[in-house]
Amino acid sequence: MPAEHRVEVALPVPVFSTFTYSVEDSPPPPGTRVLVPFRRDERIGWVTGPGSGAEDVPRVRPVLDVLEEEPSVPGDMLELARWMGEYYVAPLGIVLRTCLPSALSDSSRDFLTLLGSPDQAGTPRERRLLDALAGAGGTRAVRAFRRALDMGSLWPEIRRLSARGLIRHATLPPRDPPTRSRKVVRVETWLSDLQDRDELFRRSPRQREAYGLLESSGGSMELAHLLDQGGFDRSVVGALEKKGVVAVSEEEVLRDPFRERAPGEPGRHVPTTDQARVLDALKGALSESSPRPALLHGITGSGKTLVYIELLKEVVGRRGGGAIVLVPEISLTPQTVSRFRAEFGDQVAVLHSALSDGERFDAWRQIRRGEKLIAVGARSAVFAPLPRLGAIVVDEEHDGSYKQSESPRYQARDVAVVRAIRTGALCVLGSATPSLESWQNARSGKFQLLSLPHRVGGGALPPVKVVDLKKLWRRGGDPGEGEGRETRQGTRGGSRASGAGKQAGEGILSPELVEGVRDRLRRGEQVILLLNRRGYSNFVQCRECGEVWQCPSCSVSLTFHRTTGRLLCHYCRHEELPPARCIRCGSTELSFKGMGTEQVERVVAETFPGARIARMDVDTTQGKWSHHEILGRVERGEVDILLGTQMIAKGLDFPRVTLVGVVNADVGIHLPDFRASERTFQLLSQVAGRTGRGPLGGEVFVQTSLPDHYAVRAALHHDYEAFAERELGERRNPPYPPHTRLANVVTSSPVLEEAAREAERGAKWIRQAIRRRHRGVEVVGPAPAPIERLHGRWRWHFLLRSASPGTLGALLLAFQEGFNVGGRDVRLVVDRDPVALL
Ligand SMILES: [Zn+2]
Ligand SMILES: [Zn+2]
Repeated sequence: MPAEHRVEVALPVPVFSTFTYSVEDSPPPPGTRVLVPFRRDERIGWVTGPGSGAEDVPRVRPVLDVLEEEPSVPGDMLELARWMGEYYVAPLGIVLRTCLPSALSDSSRDFLTLLGSPDQAGTPRERRLLDALAGAGGTRAVRAFRRALDMGSLWPEIRRLSARGLIRHATLPPRDPPTRSRKVVRVETWLSDLQDRDELFRRSPRQREAYGLLESSGGSMELAHLLDQGGFDRSVVGALEKKGVVAVSEEEVLRDPFRERAPGEPGRHVPTTDQARVLDALKGALSESSPRPALLHGITGSGKTLVYIELLKEVVGRRGGGAIVLVPEISLTPQTVSRFRAEFGDQVAVLHSALSDGERFDAWRQIRRGEKLIAVGARSAVFAPLPRLGAIVVDEEHDGSYKQSESPRYQARDVAVVRAIRTGALCVLGSATPSLESWQNARSGKFQLLSLPHRVGGGALPPVKVVDLKKLWRRGGDPGEGEGRETRQGTRGGSRASGAGKQAGEGILSPELVEGVRDRLRRGEQVILLLNRRGYSNFVQCRECGEVWQCPSCSVSLTFHRTTGRLLCHYCRHEELPPARCIRCGSTELSFKGMGTEQVERVVAETFPGARIARMDVDTTQGKWSHHEILGRVERGEVDILLGTQMIAKGLDFPRVTLVGVVNADVGIHLPDFRASERTFQLLSQVAGRTGRGPLGGEVFVQTSLPDHYAVRAALHHDYEAFAERELGERRNPPYPPHTRLANVVTSSPVLEEAAREAERGAKWIRQAIRRRHRGVEVVGPAPAPIERLHGRWRWHFLLRSASPGTLGALLLAFQEGFNVGGRDVRLVVDRDPVALL
């Protein structure tokens, strides 16, 4: 009998402890992927070290298979994952699964290939294995193979046979679906005139809807996607074809635009004095053994990307190290990537969400082997396994998308800082509107503060004109915040009674903004319009009794979407037809209130006939590359007005955009969340920064009913520091980050009482623990969560506050170990450093 060893294995299951298994011979090193029996199934896990308590665990099951020779998780990544598990209160196995490409969590991807002959077998078991493999045609998935053979663990045989070169054991990436052509619908005739449209679609509202959907998606869509999204019959498209307004054709499937695009010429930019100063400081930091993280506060258009590129030249080119560049998913455009590709060519691996599992696995392997030295990507690229990490850049470090909303609820910016510090790499956080956390860290000296206070080329930040919506509403139009001006009948594809003595766009677009847009259109320049709310009308309300239509599963009002003609819940995607009458009082007088991007699109189309409009929001960017298709059209000058939600505020750099209009700056400012003002300030500053980036200059119009709100005022004056000062004061009492650390504990259940009871129990447990040994933590609540019901589950929460992250962390670990969640179907979630408390 060979000696038995025990190993600890972390499994991606919601259990905090690791599991003990036995192996024959020497145990594989930590970080190695293994297949183990778990309950009545098999699971992939990672070895974390030698087994603890060897004797007191009487019967341990053996590891079924060791899936790799080299650990997929190198030592420093295993340590980082341990830190994340403890800090964010998540099981280590779940953290590891998050850090690795999903192909590595799929045991069906492991294959055995026969290289020798069954006659070369040494033992009867080896012989059986090789015979079976030959019988299966030479290659077989290990998992199915082991089941078919029923010989228990095959690992000792596999290891011996592969050492002798008789078989190969390899993890293969999933195969991508074959490239094929698809049917695509394209707009042939752009109907810019509202009257044409009414004429053409007089008795066919469905055709009008289909055309509208196509138009707002940038003019083309996959046929299947169009039919699916709008619930249209193929005959609707057929009728549009007959009318000659659309055409259907076979096209090759659009391949990865990051690969298609030829890298541009390397820039011949000479750093400005500001950039050179910042670069000197960063290069100095690179030479230190443990450099301090740097916060690069650079206004929009100040040339942060050039600084990143020059820094990377130093790290990669001169020092032969690797680097990671994190970008919010939405800013990860072919435009951004081509700047890095132009300088670093094939050394760049782009990790974006549209990669297939196979492509992601390939990129990961190339990075791991050191074939690619720069990883550019969204949140999870922070785990790119670069062997000699020299620097991590986090661009737009304030962006909320760096926080993952499911377990592990990590903040990639903070993980980047921790990873850099642990590996001696330099971390650079860049933003025009830094998060207050980073700002505070820079002020306290924890981070090095660097700034780029001027725009490249001496351009000035665009002047911002404020339009008081209260005055606009008084002048005419309906009162209230952009109240939908139509009844249910009017929204059903029928033509609206326009021109009834009213100016088009009245109550939504101010005369100043309309004039500004007209002016740009006349000159052939481009316009960006922002409204951070999707759909047509934000909610439907009974005029008689005030009832507002809510989602049956969430305590959220339903939004009317005109393209689909349905009410939609933005949280759980529940859909229903608009009601014929009020469920409470039976009245048929219903009003559609609160405008969204669909409504603005319509008003803009009416106000500027002939203008080519593209709308970009969640609804028009469902397809894999639709977001890039729309931006491509803007870049090629095929769009005059780009309108959309916050998606259009980030990182776009189009020199012909000379006007930015914020249709309503107040959206979101009153949310019951401590970051509401900060988000408003960031959004306004970022969108304002989209203009004035070329020699044509630029101008910004902000429509608001709160011109005196400090977040709006500071954005109008491009004054980040004034905003930060004021906001830091606002968060002092009661304390909110960055003055304190927070954890949000949320309980939920289909039964309201159970969610409430569990929150009470949890808070009580915590209060006792604080009294006993975790002093320095304060409990706020419990109380119903601001969104009380979501996906049919009632939600309660309480907040934990502490000035000391260590104290808070110790308490959370104790809570996770000592508190048992009770009740049927009750869930408890701990969200550390939450970005939102909704
Ligand atoms: Zn009513
Ligand atoms: Zn819902």
